[in-house]
Amino acid sequence: MEKNSIHYRPTHANVNLDAIRSNIRNLKEYLGSRTSVIAVVKADGYGHGEVEIASVAFEAGANMVSVATPDEAVRLRMAGIVGDILVMGPSPISFAKKAVELGITITVADGQWLQSVLTDIDADDFEKQLKIHIKIDSGMGRIGLRDVESLQALVLIIESSEKVLLDGIFTHFACADEEDSCRTEEQFTTFMELVQTLPEKPRLVHASNSAATLLYPEYALDAVRFGMSLYGITPSEYVRKKLPFRLKRSLSLESELAYVKLLEAGNRISYGGTYETTESEWIGSIPIGYADGLRRGLRGQEVLIDGKRMPLVGTICMDQCMVKLPREFLVGEKVVLIGRQGEEEIKMEEWAECLSTIPYEIAVSITKRVPRIYTGKDGESK
Ligand SMILES: *Cc1c(COP(=O)(O)O)cnc(C)c1O
Repeated sequence: MEKNSIHYRPTHANVNLDAIRSNIRNLKEYLGSRTSVIAVVKADGYGHGEVEIASVAFEAGANMVSVATPDEAVRLRMAGIVGDILVMGPSPISFAKKAVELGITITVADGQWLQSVLTDIDADDFEKQLKIHIKIDSGMGRIGLRDVESLQALVLIIESSEKVLLDGIFTHFACADEEDSCRTEEQFTTFMELVQTLPEKPRLVHASNSAATLLYPEYALDAVRFGMSLYGITPSEYVRKKLPFRLKRSLSLESELAYVKLLEAGNRISYGGTYETTESEWIGSIPIGYADGLRRGLRGQEVLIDGKRMPLVGTICMDQCMVKLPREFLVGEKVVLIGRQGEEEIKMEEWAECLSTIPYEIAVSITKRVPRIYTGKDGESK
C-alpha cells in the first residue's frame, strides 16, 4: 500500500492512529488484566493498513494480532512485526514449515491435517515448535471441530509430537451482534463443554469477536479477538446502543473539488444522462469513483462540503463523480465522503445502509488506489 509519499490527486483516506490507541486502552481498562487483547488486522487492517495498525496495536498494549490468511501473517512478519501473530483461517499443509520458521501461530481444525503437517515437519530438524490454536465450530458452521471424539483424536496427535505447542483453543460466534442472545449462549456452552474435555487448559481460551466483547464481558475468558470495533465501528446498531465504553472512529475519506461549473436547466450529467439539471445548477466534480471504492450504488449519497450535506448527482464513474452545489465553490474546496466536517458527520454505516450491506464491507472496499495518510504516528496528540 502506498503511504505518506507524494500524491498529486487530493483523494485520500485519513487514518487516525490515536483513535486506535484510545480504543485499545479503553478496551483493556474494560476487560481488566486477566484478559488479553488480540487485535484483528486481517484484510489489510480492515482497509486501514495492516502493518501500521499492528504496530500501533502492540504499542498500545495488544498482546497478539490476528489475521485470516497465511500470506497476511507472513507480510506482517516481513514488515518487522515481532509480536505474536495468529492465523485464524485455514492454512495449507505446505505453510506449516514457514509458520515454524517465522514463529507464526496457526489454527488447526482437523486432526488429519495436523498429522500430515507433522509428517512434513518431522523430516526437518526444526529447533522451534509449531504453535497452534485449535478451532472449535460451536455453531458458526465454518471451520472447526464439532465433537469430543474429533477433539480427543486431535489431542492424541498433538501429544504424540514434541514439535507442536498447543497455545490456545477458540471458537467464533455467528450471532453475537443481535439482540437475541440465545444462539450465542448455546455456542458458548457447547464450546466450554468441549474445552473442559482437554487434559490440560492451553494458555489462551478465547471466543469473543467485537460484538461479544462489548455485549458479553462474562465470555471474555483469556482473550478477545477485537476487529471492527478496534477501528471504532460497532458490528451492529444494537451493539452501538449497548456500548460499555466510547469508541473512536479512525478512518475518514476525503477529497477536493477538482472542477466547478454552472449549468443551465436541461443539461445532462454523467453516463447514461440519467440526471438532468432542472434549473441553473452549480456542479462540482470530485476525483474519486468506483475504482476507489465509491460504489456505483452510492448514487445520490451525500458528501460534506463547507460543513453541509450535498448530494452526488448522476452515475458515479470509475474515477470521478459529480456533486450538486448550492452555490459556487472554488476548485480545491475540501470534500468529506466519510467522516466529520463541522457539525455534520457521514459514517460508514450510512454508506452500508445505502448499499444494503454492513460497515465491514465498506471498510475493506476502499481500494489500494486511495492512499492512506496516517496521523498520530508517534502518538503526538495523546
Ligand atoms: C474477523 C474475525 C474476528 C473479528 O470480528 P469482528 O466482528 O470484526 O470483531 C474474530 N474472529 C474471527 C475468527 C474472525 O474471522
